[in-house]
Formats: sequence, C-alpha cells, structure tokens
Amino acid sequence: MFDLDPDRITAWIRDGGYTSVALQLPEGLKTSAKALSDTIMRDTGAEVLILGRPCYGACDLFTGYKDHAEALIHLGHAPIPDMGYDPDVLYVEVGVRAGLPPGLPGMIADLPPRIGLLATVQHIGLLPALKEAVEATGRTASIGIGDGRVYHPGQVLGCNCSVATAVEEAVDMFILVAEGDFHPLAASFGARKPVRVLNPLTGELRDVDDVRDRILRKRFAAIESARSARDFLVIVCGKAGQNRMEAAKGICARLREDGRNAYLALMDEITPDALLPYAVDAYVCTGCPRVAMDDSSRYRHPMLTVTEVDHVLGLREWDGYEFDCI
Ligand code: SF4
Repeated sequence: MFDLDPDRITAWIRDGGYTSVALQLPEGLKTSAKALSDTIMRDTGAEVLILGRPCYGACDLFTGYKDHAEALIHLGHAPIPDMGYDPDVLYVEVGVRAGLPPGLPGMIADLPPRIGLLATVQHIGLLPALKEAVEATGRTASIGIGDGRVYHPGQVLGCNCSVATAVEEAVDMFILVAEGDFHPLAASFGARKPVRVLNPLTGELRDVDDVRDRILRKRFAAIESARSARDFLVIVCGKAGQNRMEAAKGICARLREDGRNAYLALMDEITPDALLPYAVDAYVCTGCPRVAMDDSSRYRHPMLTVTEVDHVLGLREWDGYEFDCI
C-alpha cells in the first residue's frame, strides 16, 4: 500500500558516503522500520538507528540527530521550506498507491464550474490526473501555491491551507484528495469555500460539514469557558517547526494587560499528564493548533489556539472565527 522507495534511500546513503543514519518515522510507518533497516544495512553497510519517539509531521524533525548518526532519513512528510535546508537530511514522502475512482466524472457532475484542487502529501501525485479529469468535464481546475510552510502546489497540512487561500477568488469550491478527517478539517476551516473530500481508497466523495460543525461547537464551548479564567498557561512547543515563541510572548502580554495572569511554558510533548502539575484555569497552545482543535476534551481545562485568545479577550466576534494557521 505504501511506497517507501528503498532504492532511492540506499542510493542517497551510498552517494553521501554515510556510515550511520537515523530513521524517523510517523507511527503508521514504524512497522516498516525493521525491514527498511535490514535493506539499508545490507545494501549500504551503514549502521541504522531507529528513532522510537513519536513523530507527527515535518514540524517534528529530529534536529538532534547529529549526536547519534551522520544523517537523518525522515519518512512520511514533505519538507517545510521555512525550516531551512540540511544536506544531511533526506525526506521520503511515502505516497499511497491508489488511483482516481473510475466513476469520477459522474461524481462531479453536479459541481460548479470552477474547482480548486487540494491533496495531502500522500496523494499529491494524483493532482495532475485529477486536474485533467476535472477539465475534461468542461470545468476549470486550479492548484494553488502555498506559503513558505508548504512544499508542493496544492498540498494541505493539518495547520496550513495557504494553497487554498492562494486561489480562493478563482474557484467556487475545492476537492481535497485525502483520507480520514484530519486534513479535511484543516481544509474546511482554512478554505473559505465549500470543500468535498475525495478518498481514493474508498472512491467516496463527501462533504465534511458535520465534522466541522462538531468541532466548531467544541471551540465555542472552550472559548466561553475560558472567558472567566484568571490564570493561563501559555505553551510554547520546543519542536523545530512548531515553535512560536514571539506569538506566545505577545499573548502573555495581552492577557496581562487584561488583568489576567499568564505563565509561559516550554514543552516538547503537550499531553494531559504533562500539564497536570500546573494549577491554572486555561491553556493556550502556540504549538500545533490541532492539540486544541482535535484533543481539547482530553484536558482538564479549556485549551485555546492562538487565534481564539482574542475571542476570550472580547477583541474578536464569533463570526470572525479563524483557523489558527501556522
Ligand atoms: S504543526 Fe501539527 S498540523 Fe502542522 S504539520 Fe505539525 S503536526 Fe501537522
């Protein structure tokens, strides 16, 4: 199902002359770590270190790899250009082997004339074929270029939908090629036009309005609950691609101006257990916005995103709700 491209990996190791490499994999690919290590050791002679720590995105890049290995192979994600270039890091995107559903023309027959196309990195290779298929029905198909956090045209991250913003004036709606709800939720909040999700594994085209509405109700409840909070823990994430220290300091200053107490905390893994020692009334997560959006019910106190603080302070109305885009 996954395409790990081991030949590309071993060729890169041999070409670079590396004698040791670290492997960083997201949870869904960790079952491939053993076989990939065998291949690398057999074909290159390099020593392999499997990194057992969690990995949620390229934002999680293990920048300390040089303490353990000469090079790092980061699997499952495209680079984040804003994080800079390291010649000793190889990103292997790991596409999912799937094609467009044969009944696609019929599935899009009721869609408006101008379509924007989006995809997760696992399915980014399907965008040219999807563009051709949409245009064959007489519609226009636009693929946007994102900001410095996005590597591929049309690529949606769970925290960034700038590829949609780039073309939103030119389209009536978006089709996002994705599985599950994680990226569709980002697109439904980040794109200011309707979104339908095309799952190439099931062949289904669906909207995500119900998921979006459920999350919006939870965000409203968290914001309302935090309005009366006195003590806030403002969390900065130490991960290379999630660190927003300046934004966190700005939030502390605004909370204090409003007569609240704000405490700045740096942590790598934001979990309910990690927050237990801090006796506060609310949290603000300036790291991955999905900690608050997707997992807020796991926390004892309201967990806010960066953009939600203004609602708590009465500086932004509910109809001006904005997705926290990194
Ligand atoms: S910050 Fe969160 S949503 Fe964004 S890339 Fe990292 S893990 Fe994904």
